[in-house]
Amino acid sequence: MKTFKNVPWINCCTKCDAERATVQTEKGNEDWFYDGDKVTCENCGHTGVIEADGECAWCVWDEVDDSQGCNEEELVMAIVQFYIADSKDKNPSEITKNLRYELPDDHNFNVDDDDFEFCIEECAEYYHADCDGWEDRWPLLFMLWIDDQYLGMFEVEREYDPVFSANKVE
Ligand SMILES: [Zn+2]
Repeated sequence: MKTFKNVPWINCCTKCDAERATVQTEKGNEDWFYDGDKVTCENCGHTGVIEADGECAWCVWDEVDDSQGCNEEELVMAIVQFYIADSKDKNPSEITKNLRYELPDDHNFNVDDDDFEFCIEECAEYYHADCDGWEDRWPLLFMLWIDDQYLGMFEVEREYDPVFSANKVE
């Protein structure tokens, strides 16, 4: 078995797009390989086999298993938690996890988001509708954590306060 490193003409790795591959061959040489010779990407270790038709030889890379790639990370739901602070000096380290409210996990907020206003609005909606927040006096101070990382305090105003006015009609 011979090993050729950095074979330039192998089609690039389907997993990482690298163009450097190692080929292990029984009877091939630098310029020619045979059906079934083993190919390994030098960058990521992805494997494949040589297929040759007599004129050309190329690598048939193994199928890339997406379920173990970055796609899976995107599907992992971040844990969004919040706490209603009674003052702006509230120390986030005092608010342990069991004191926080947790947003139901049908959202796609993420600690890498650029801003968290939309996330906070969702928390406020949840707090208002499902945690008796409609009884509170708004605006409220929301402290936000995503995946246990503290992201700051936000003041949230309730925009649609119902106002009633009565006129005698009869
Ligand atoms: Zn690769």
